[in-house]
Amino acid sequence: MLYFDHNATTFLAPEVTDTMTVALREVFGNASSTHRQGQLARQHLEQSRRTIARFLNASPAEFIFTSGGTESNNLAILGLVRNLPGPYKHVITTAIEHPSVLECYRQLEREGVEVTYVGVDSRGIVDAREVERNLRPNTVLVSVMHANNEVGTIQSIKEIAGLIRHRNVFLHCDGVQAFGKIGVDVQELDVDLYSISAHKIFGPKGIGGLYVRKGTPLRGIQHGGRHERERRAGTENVPAAMGFARAVELCEPSIADALADLRDRFEAEVLYRGGVVINGATPGRLPNTSNLLFCGLSAEALVIALDRKGIAVSTGSACSSGSVEPSHVLLAMGRSRDEARSSVRFSFGRYNTAEDVRVLIEAVTAFLSRLRANVRLERSLVV
Ligand SMILES: *Cc1c(COP(=O)(O)O)cnc(C)c1O
Repeated sequence: MLYFDHNATTFLAPEVTDTMTVALREVFGNASSTHRQGQLARQHLEQSRRTIARFLNASPAEFIFTSGGTESNNLAILGLVRNLPGPYKHVITTAIEHPSVLECYRQLEREGVEVTYVGVDSRGIVDAREVERNLRPNTVLVSVMHANNEVGTIQSIKEIAGLIRHRNVFLHCDGVQAFGKIGVDVQELDVDLYSISAHKIFGPKGIGGLYVRKGTPLRGIQHGGRHERERRAGTENVPAAMGFARAVELCEPSIADALADLRDRFEAEVLYRGGVVINGATPGRLPNTSNLLFCGLSAEALVIALDRKGIAVSTGSACSSGSVEPSHVLLAMGRSRDEARSSVRFSFGRYNTAEDVRVLIEAVTAFLSRLRANVRLERSLVV
């Protein structure tokens, strides 16, 4: 099997499996318990927190564990906006956010909050000044994702922060795809809330985290014990936290160049065949992501053909695949519904080799040749 769908999820890095196998056996205590087993679990939990916080350039007290990126986004948005005073609240987000952000804002709309969805240009980039222009006196929160999961475009979070922070507006950033793939420094980005998840970086599913800048008036959205500084009730999943920290330690910034090399070689070979366009072709794109529009072709057909050869790729996001709706991200970038349905995402990971990519290129180009031969045949039959 060849796997090129890392933006949907990843398998466990072998080192993560090793750490977690031991932890699942031995670190079973409740981190809130006084006895030795409890204290051992607490120590491992706090050590994991320190590792991940350091990677974000945050203090450990500013990082809380959640069940994943979806929960982090829910906690950041609902936990902040519901806790802020005033009956008339306004928030701003973008048209290309992950559903776990967009659906929180839809929920807030039902609760009477006004929401502005700013658009993006044809490359998938949010104009920071457009965000600024939409600020109102009652704007309380802005959510802009760091890197897009479907096309890989990266937003200038720091520039947006510079334009809104003096207005007393909080800034939330969904960093699930950026974290571990590009350098992330929450101080430098100047964000208040930053969501991350383990399973996109060769860590386990079901654990993620939220950076909450000191002093941010965030209130938990699930109720129970006083875990995670009273912001996330529930017994902590310590083995998963340990696996998450191990996965973070394995993220080497130098991998980005090697990934970009693989990705660029792949794109050059496929684009050479003609009739193929890159969606979101920006220089600063995530190094592992390639979203290609195959003009006139059914993306689903290509995904299925590759799957028959044991090659995993996907159409758009995992959350919307299986549904017939075209990608909201590609539509926001100005692609037509047909173009969106002709687009396939290839997302590489650090265990992919040059040989893997050679096999992928061969499979894709063979598919294109076969298809075009059929089209020529059909045309010749018509004439
Ligand atoms: C995967 C993803 C999420 C959701 O994270 P989970 O841990 O799967 O809940 C949120 N945002 C983005 C950009 C993602 O790619």
